[in-house]
Amino acid sequence: MSRVIRIICRGERPCSPALIQCGNIAALRFVIGLFLLLAIAISANAAPAQLAKSDRSLWPLPLNTPNLFDFASTMEALVYAKHINAVDNMSEAELAAWLGLKSVDMNSVHRFSAEMKVRLLRNMRSFWDLYGGWNAFTALSIEQYNLLHNIETSDILTANIWKYFAAQSMEQGVILSEQYTAWYANADSFYAAYAYEQYRLAALFPKITSEILEVNPSEFAGAANNLLSGKHFIMTFDDGPSKHTPATVAALNNAGKTGIFFILKPSLQAYGADTDLNKLYMGMTRAIHGTKHEALTKPERWQDLPEFIKTIRAVTRRGSYATPCYFRPPYGQRTPELVDFLDAQGCRVMLWNIDSQDWQKDITAAEMQDRLTSLILLWRSGIILFHDVQPKAAQALPELWKRFDGAGVKWE
Ligand SMILES: [Zn+2]
Repeated sequence: MSRVIRIICRGERPCSPALIQCGNIAALRFVIGLFLLLAIAISANAAPAQLAKSDRSLWPLPLNTPNLFDFASTMEALVYAKHINAVDNMSEAELAAWLGLKSVDMNSVHRFSAEMKVRLLRNMRSFWDLYGGWNAFTALSIEQYNLLHNIETSDILTANIWKYFAAQSMEQGVILSEQYTAWYANADSFYAAYAYEQYRLAALFPKITSEILEVNPSEFAGAANNLLSGKHFIMTFDDGPSKHTPATVAALNNAGKTGIFFILKPSLQAYGADTDLNKLYMGMTRAIHGTKHEALTKPERWQDLPEFIKTIRAVTRRGSYATPCYFRPPYGQRTPELVDFLDAQGCRVMLWNIDSQDWQKDITAAEMQDRLTSLILLWRSGIILFHDVQPKAAQALPELWKRFDGAGVKWE
């Protein structure tokens, strides 16, 4: 019996025949074959849709055990790996054309690629460590596998392991189970669009800073961020308070979960400057988004921050959450000088690695649920960005949590 299927069947619950036929060798080959399919070159020149949307109804298994989560997670990572490789093979001119930009910052693009590879390899390694399943995916020798434990410390090693991984997938033929073909087609276009989203940000960095890369190692940002251990997700809500805040807070409290609310001064003033924040946020963590919603790229734009920081922190201290001060710059734009300035105020920059895109008109709460499901599986831990001026988080989160019930996911 193939390891892939054994992994699925080794969950706490007995393997359900309705989920997968554990003894069906042909099915096992099909599943293995899927991994081989993933490195086939794509025509990366066609610009994908601007907003990556996935259809989780096409994934044929549930996600409600640690093993089912890990299996689905590895599958997502392998599809994204294919698109990272495709971008790696593009020239600067091809990249610019694909991203619709006049120029691209190749240093940032390479830096992002390298960080994302380390991140994905590390994610997959934790899965393979856990189940001894490396050989189910590649023919990597035990020596090479052991080297994988040092990927964070060696760029060359990461590049070599990555290349080896891609080559392994390309060498062999492809047999794809019908069970996974619809999911694969959808995931393939999802990660083409997601690569576009991410590489566009990387190509613009640092001219336009964003969550994609750090400007200072003290920040919580970027693909390299190792803040959280496996399956731990922090939910964050920007731009509020708004009329939607009570529903979002209630959804979190009803599920026994917490979130971090990054408060914007004009929103607070509009909501009511004398608002009892303890009552409004009911035990949630409060943090700072700014005094105006503008890019903090010049020192004169952040001089009035300390007073607002003091107001919110003073209120925060009266609550049960005596948190350190977290700051989220509007649009994720900041400079190293701002990070130092905030540091002097006792505030740490917290960005995000998983963007719900909830502010976009073009995404419904249900579509956002599916997008987040894919990205949670891909990233395996991180900080999720929502906006507290939108109703979508409150609508989507209960069902999202339910999808991962039993998978060992920790929400905060
Ligand atoms: Zn904002």
